[in-house]
Amino acid sequence: MRFNHILFLLFVSIFISCMNSSRTKDQSDGGQKEIGDKNLVVQNEVQIVTFIYHRFGDDRYPSTNIGTNNFQKQLEYLKTHDFKVISWSEALKELRKPGKSGRFVVITIDDAFKSFYQNGLPLLKKYGYPATLFINTETIGGDSYMSWGEIRESMKEGIEIGNHTHSHAFFLNLPEEERYKKFREEIRRSQKLIGENLDDYVPDVFAYPYGEFDEKMQKIVREEGMKAAMAQNSGVIDSGTDLYALPRFPMSSYYSDLSAFIEKANMRPLKIQTIYPSTHLMNNLKNPPTLTLEILKDNLQWSSLQCFVQGGKCVLSVSQDEEKVKLEIKGDKALDRRRTLYTVTVKDSDGSWHWFSHLWIMSEYN
Ligand SMILES: [Zn+2]
Repeated sequence: MRFNHILFLLFVSIFISCMNSSRTKDQSDGGQKEIGDKNLVVQNEVQIVTFIYHRFGDDRYPSTNIGTNNFQKQLEYLKTHDFKVISWSEALKELRKPGKSGRFVVITIDDAFKSFYQNGLPLLKKYGYPATLFINTETIGGDSYMSWGEIRESMKEGIEIGNHTHSHAFFLNLPEEERYKKFREEIRRSQKLIGENLDDYVPDVFAYPYGEFDEKMQKIVREEGMKAAMAQNSGVIDSGTDLYALPRFPMSSYYSDLSAFIEKANMRPLKIQTIYPSTHLMNNLKNPPTLTLEILKDNLQWSSLQCFVQGGKCVLSVSQDEEKVKLEIKGDKALDRRRTLYTVTVKDSDGSWHWFSHLWIMSEYN
């Protein structure tokens, strides 16, 4: 080991609470995945930060709400700093342009709560920003949900509609033979209702309820004609991102103050070369699971590396060769929530932060 390698490891250990070099050997599920060649045929330098909102100015539900004032401040920030806010369909076009570069923001809203219509839409209209609204069709017109008329009105203001299933179920709680049948049926039912109620509109983008999915569900979404599907793990989209697992930054009370928003709006993608395991389901994995990532060194300043595990501490092991840095990440104790994110951030030599997160799901937890 060269002297600078030793220095490097020493430095990392200052930042990381605990070093652990033992590799978990029994992770047989969800094999290693090469990143960077999925779904898109072009490579370019387009970067898209996508935000997810649910409720607006409805503080009865703080975990899914953003205050109207906060939302206005965010839009004002985007406007005064010349961010290009585009619809998801425009974003997809940008991702498909060979050689294109540029940074964009996409606003998405899930579930079609009435508070979006009442408090969110007027602000989007004021700033002239488009957004994508993912609707679960069963509750449309119900208490605290938008009506079809309100959705039609929103579309006139530049709101795109996406499919969010019919019932918004926890599909992963169903046994596999039921899960995929019901999931496909619900996408179709939702498409049909949207077409019937919104002048033959045909959504081509999907959002997984609760951001939960497995590989077969990704395949079904694609087979049902969707060009992309949004998840809820945080991160930045670029031309290497899996179009059927698109990351979004949540913007609710807990994370939505202006400084957190500014940090996310300016975030860059952390480009992962390989990931192991690639699965999100913990069913056959040791708990806590170990996630192994290989990342090109590029101009990243590895002394700034940070690692987060929701509900616990990150145990990180770092090694490197000439080109790549290898990270082995795990929680300091067994994960005990339905959804847990492992997140890695690192700064580049220009001072910009890069972000990657991986979602673990334990479907036996409710
Ligand atoms: Zn939802």
